[in-house]
Amino acid sequence: MRIIITGGAGFIGSAVIRYLIKNTDHVVLNLDKLTYSGNLENLADIDQSQRYFFRHTDICNAEALQQIFEELKPDAIMHLAAESHVDRSINSPAVFMQTNILGTYQLLECARGYYESLHSKQKKIFRFHHISTDEVYGTLGETGLFTEDSPYSPNSPYSASKASSDHLVRAWHETYKLPTIITNCSNNYGPYQYPEKLIPKTIINAVSGLDIPVYGEGKQIRDWLYVDDHAQALVHVLLNADIGKTYNIGGNNEMNNLGVVRTICELLDKIHPKEGSSYAAQIKFVTDRPGHDFRYAIDASRIKAELNWQPAESFQSGLKKTILWYLENNSWWEKLI
Ligand code: NAD
Repeated sequence: MRIIITGGAGFIGSAVIRYLIKNTDHVVLNLDKLTYSGNLENLADIDQSQRYFFRHTDICNAEALQQIFEELKPDAIMHLAAESHVDRSINSPAVFMQTNILGTYQLLECARGYYESLHSKQKKIFRFHHISTDEVYGTLGETGLFTEDSPYSPNSPYSASKASSDHLVRAWHETYKLPTIITNCSNNYGPYQYPEKLIPKTIINAVSGLDIPVYGEGKQIRDWLYVDDHAQALVHVLLNADIGKTYNIGGNNEMNNLGVVRTICELLDKIHPKEGSSYAAQIKFVTDRPGHDFRYAIDASRIKAELNWQPAESFQSGLKKTILWYLENNSWWEKLI
């Protein structure tokens, strides 16, 4: 297949591209604007491949999108390009609306025009896979899980913009019969994650001797999925899922933020001990994020039952790999902070 990946220079998109180039014969075109979180170094492992191409493009640019579609004649689009950080969406929501909503609209329109021009055999193959988040479902109490039928109830500008994009994708399927698939995933972690996010920030601040900030009392609960498990799941969904369906993807790893930070400190104490005290002594509680959702947890039984997929990594094994990667790749993150 010829696959366009939007946002392929980001954290998850680059994991998907590395997976596709290393494990399949598909041809990949990475379409990315290279915002602050896009980094072509994430693709250094595979950028010499004859099956990998890059176009420096904004998904809001309809003309450029059309040209790329005409040039590559894709069999599938995996749409990951987005503004992705909740804190930034609280301080500067405009770009989230622009990229996540209007950019998705432009991409859908371009895909629709292209799809309508295809012969029936090519139409059967074509897929538009939209990659989204479990944050669209809002927040849970102490119990319960998000299913694919949970009502949408986004609380942050980020999750509201992703919810909007999910609705657009759904509407383009219902109205224009564009063959779409949506996946909603829990929190990802792993190599190449931009240092503003909880897990890389904790590792980097710990080994740099800085305070390790924890919002409020650190009681918010998230479900954590190792990024390479997510990348593999996305390709599996693209190739096997029923058109028009939504799949939740999760790691079955619920933990509160303080638990995550303490586990990282304990692992660092073993792998990279410092003299005198534990890294946990650097933990500092800071003012909570406004509208901070209490708990996200995923019921991932549909993807397991229908597509026979489940994550390979446990939280302990994934965290250990992640910590080792950040310890060995300080030249990658030092430039970014
Ligand atoms: P990221 O911020 O690391 O990467 C986003 C990428 O999109 C960057 O390479 C950036 O340059 C590119 N981009 C941004 N605006 C663009 C535009 N207008 N045109 C073209 N490219 C643009 O994000 P990520 O963590 O890799 O997330 C990827 C996708 O997965 C997002 O859609 C996000 O909502 C979703 N998601 C993320 C998580 C998570 O835990 N990180 C969980 C579930 C879903």
